[in-house]
Amino acid sequence: MKKEYDVIIVGGGITGACTVRDCAMRGLRSLLIEREDLCDGASGRNHGLLHSGARYAVSDQEGARECIRENLILKKIASNCVESTGGLFISLPEDGLEWQANFVAKCHEAGIDAKILDPEKVKRDYPAVNQSIIGAVSVPDASVDPFRLTDANVLDAVRHGADILRFTEVVDFVQENGRVTGVKVRGKGGEESIHSRTVVLAAGIWASKLAEKIGVRISMLPSKGSLLVFGHRVADVVINRCRKPSNADIIVPDDMVSVLGTTSDKVPFEACDDMRVTQEEVDILLKEGVELVPALANTRIIRAYAGVRPLVSEGGDGRSVSRGIVLLDHEERDGVPGLITITGGKLTTARLMGEMTADLVCKKLGVKAVCHTAEVPLAGSEKPGRGERSYEMKSAVWRHGTETSIMDFKGPGSELVCECEQVTRAEISYSIKEFGVRDLRDLRRHTRLGMGTCQSNHCVRRAAEILAEELGCPEKAEEFVQQYLQERWKGMTPVLWGDTLREAEFMRNRYGRKDYEI
Ligand SMILES: Cc1cc2nc3c(=O)[nH]c(=O)nc-3n(C[C@H](O)[C@H](O)[C@H](O)COP(=O)(O)OP(=O)(O)OC[C@H]3O[C@@H](n4cnc5c(N)ncnc54)[C@H](O)[C@@H]3O)c2cc1C
Repeated sequence: MKKEYDVIIVGGGITGACTVRDCAMRGLRSLLIEREDLCDGASGRNHGLLHSGARYAVSDQEGARECIRENLILKKIASNCVESTGGLFISLPEDGLEWQANFVAKCHEAGIDAKILDPEKVKRDYPAVNQSIIGAVSVPDASVDPFRLTDANVLDAVRHGADILRFTEVVDFVQENGRVTGVKVRGKGGEESIHSRTVVLAAGIWASKLAEKIGVRISMLPSKGSLLVFGHRVADVVINRCRKPSNADIIVPDDMVSVLGTTSDKVPFEACDDMRVTQEEVDILLKEGVELVPALANTRIIRAYAGVRPLVSEGGDGRSVSRGIVLLDHEERDGVPGLITITGGKLTTARLMGEMTADLVCKKLGVKAVCHTAEVPLAGSEKPGRGERSYEMKSAVWRHGTETSIMDFKGPGSELVCECEQVTRAEISYSIKEFGVRDLRDLRRHTRLGMGTCQSNHCVRRAAEILAEELGCPEKAEEFVQQYLQERWKGMTPVLWGDTLREAEFMRNRYGRKDYEI
């Protein structure tokens, strides 16, 4: 890369994506570098809850205010990534109603529209909710697709002139007289240096390891959270427990499925690259989850996954540490000019994190441009609502909004490849072109192919053949299948009983696998 940049952003999670969008929109020559595909870290392993801030209202008023502001902004600028489901905070007999009264007052103080509901009406309107509730409060929580939100930010950045380098790892920094003037990267073409006037670390929990290379210490706490995916939507509303935040007290409707989470445990840094859900975590999640929705006890669990929250801390147990935004100017803090770190925060507040970072980058570079990311709709969300289209285009429009207009649904494009998520060949071609999809794992992130009820049992071979054909390597189709099933297997292992076990055995026989690595 001979080009010289104003800013290099390290990390293609939601924070990096929002930062590169903001920098590019302000006219900065921007480059985003991600060692894997987009959303490989916490951004692809979370609840997908667009917080209203209610969860933090009692303990963290500033965090709650940030959430409600960003919640309202994202509903406007990212309409094709957000489903305005609304949220409920329910009280069970053992919770009492004391917490509820204070909770509602604190929500109002933070500007969150919280309304006490008649529990009898809630039972009728939401029959899946535990029928022994003694209280319920509605809040403007929503469901947000982190993959789509990240993609939309990156697409917008590219359309404003940014460059994106995926599957390229930043291994060190370039320094001149103590100033950071670029990064050393390792990718397909070997190692090289890329120069830039500033470098932003948006590398999630991995930021501290990278900063160490330059002698900068960021005290981070890797806090693991595990989640379970259930085979259908048990309710069309986010359900929270109205008490001090604890394990497994949120259920989020996520497209065709429901996500229950989460646990919160401190883990060693070495574990962050290979998060596994344990049997004990599955038991905790299930035990608490059925308190919210009793039907979960008999609902098929299709997989389990875990992510690591990038929290900054000097100690604590993960839940007591603030989820606040941390923006570090290493010139002021550590005497290392040219380097900035942005971390902490949430998926919900990532746009704001991008704005704060771009403000600091502009200040450092003496650029006067202002932020417009709160007003300009994201790629795909240019028109509000999701519109009505032909049958095969409906799901694509749901996922990609106005971006669907550049997909070719004519002829083979209308072929349905993944029945559960209604992914067509046109969407596959689009993802290859716009996001450089290399295999089925990438395709899943950009389209949801294989994420639905059958967990790819029916579509994997068909999808692999189409992908291999479009990439010009038909001989790789079987390799794509086996690689993908291995990855799916990892998420099924912790929940292998009943229907999930039956399905796993069916899959193993159907695709000729004797064993998977566990
Ligand atoms: C279990 C769980 C549930 C959560 N639920 C919610 C929720 O419901 N709502 C909400 O608002 N927030 C939620 N969060 C928080 C949210 O997911 C995170 O705050 C957010 O995703 C962090 O994004 P990030 O981009 O900063 O980090 P990440 O997504 O971790 O991105 C960092 C990226 O940097 C890349 N990287 C690392 N090292 C290098 C390198 N050397 N070179 C190049 N690239 C590198 C990684 O591959 C990774 O893709 C949850 C978090 C967890 C863990």
